[in-house]
Amino acid sequence: MIGQADETAFLDQVADFAAGPVRAGAPTWSMGESPAPSLFSEAAQIGLLSMSIPPEHGGAGFRFATLVRACELLAAEDFGFAMSLVNTHNVGLRLCRSAPPDLIARHLPGLLSGETAACTALTEPGAGSDFAAITARAEPEDGAWRLSGEKTWIINARRAALAIVFAHCGEMAGARSIGGFAVDLTQPGVTRRPIDCAFSQTSMGTGVLTFDRVVLPSETLILPPGGAFKSIMVELNAARTYVAAMCNAMTRAALSEATTYGNERHSFGKPLVAHQAWRMPLIEAETDLAGAEALTAQAVMQVEADEDAQLSAARAKIAATDCARHHLPGLLHAMGAEGLRPERCFTRHLAAAQVASLTDGTTTMLRERVARLTLARTDKTTEQTKE
Ligand SMILES: Cc1cc2nc3c(=O)[nH]c(=O)nc-3n(C[C@H](O)[C@H](O)[C@H](O)COP(=O)(O)OP(=O)(O)OC[C@H]3O[C@@H](n4cnc5c(N)ncnc54)[C@H](O)[C@@H]3O)c2cc1C
Repeated sequence: MIGQADETAFLDQVADFAAGPVRAGAPTWSMGESPAPSLFSEAAQIGLLSMSIPPEHGGAGFRFATLVRACELLAAEDFGFAMSLVNTHNVGLRLCRSAPPDLIARHLPGLLSGETAACTALTEPGAGSDFAAITARAEPEDGAWRLSGEKTWIINARRAALAIVFAHCGEMAGARSIGGFAVDLTQPGVTRRPIDCAFSQTSMGTGVLTFDRVVLPSETLILPPGGAFKSIMVELNAARTYVAAMCNAMTRAALSEATTYGNERHSFGKPLVAHQAWRMPLIEAETDLAGAEALTAQAVMQVEADEDAQLSAARAKIAATDCARHHLPGLLHAMGAEGLRPERCFTRHLAAAQVASLTDGTTTMLRERVARLTLARTDKTTEQTKE
């Protein structure tokens, strides 16, 4: 039985890990270096790769709220590294939920120990928001599958040994024919290349994966067509919620750093914080951030209670990414030139906030979703009122 004391002790360790090696490494990662492989083992040792994995599979079985808090602590230092860890963790969780025992036995130990990484591959060069338009395809052949296609912008693609790859099974029939395969990325026919750009921080390990008639045994189809699309949509609500929390943590970290600086740095005979015009962007950030945090807390509760969190997760991610993208430039400006140093969090978090507004459903698509869900509710209310 997992107790609150276990979760508190775990989060204390995560806080030390974030303030120690993650904080020390982050400035170099934003300048193009990759995190040392030993850091993933260190993360595994304190339980970051097994936090929500069920105890019968060697995990801690912590609550969703604990996972979210761990993500916040890490993202306050480096969003990319946090995303890299949580993506590997989530593939482990997916294996426990859906894979047959021999696949779990083959892949889970490496993921939990931090020896290997994993990724989830949906996006393609020709299809991002419109997931049902993917063209990756697995054709049945001699009781197995042959996978061909290309996935792009995939977190951990540079070093992952395992990917959950979404592809049409047999004939393409929109969302109905999409299934999810657990693909061993070390086998013939798989190639990869990194995507390097100023915004896709190297700690996220983003890259392209190409599959050329890769042979997949039948048991690797862990999310069969029919349920796969729905299952990924439900999973996305949890992802949107922790990404929202991570954005809030980045804005909070920047606000706190700017506040400290504003009390120390003087201009015209007084601390910056004593100038009313200097304080204004900080106050505006604080107010919007409190709103985003409240919406995120609501989504965390709904996801944890296994309730339909579509609306709350979408609202939380919109509010948190908008807040971060709107206020981080102002907070960076409030730091003067000092804010540009890689040792400071501002430019790193600003780039990460832009990435966060794209991953797991873009802000624009989420606005569409909120419109659909709330307008439908209004329609129903009107109908009920009519009745
Ligand atoms: C750093 C990074 C890491 C990522 N990691 C992963 C990963 O691990 N796995 C994975 O599968 N994917 C990953 N992605 C991909 C991400 O999920 C996609 O970028 C996202 O789904 C958007 O797809 P797109 O970039 O192809 O944009 P598009 O879908 O081409 O959209 C382009 C623009 O048009 C807007 N748009 C699209 N359709 C509509 C519409 N109907 N109405 C109004 N506006 C619309 C979008 O909001 C966007 O602004 C990652 C992306 C980045 C940048």
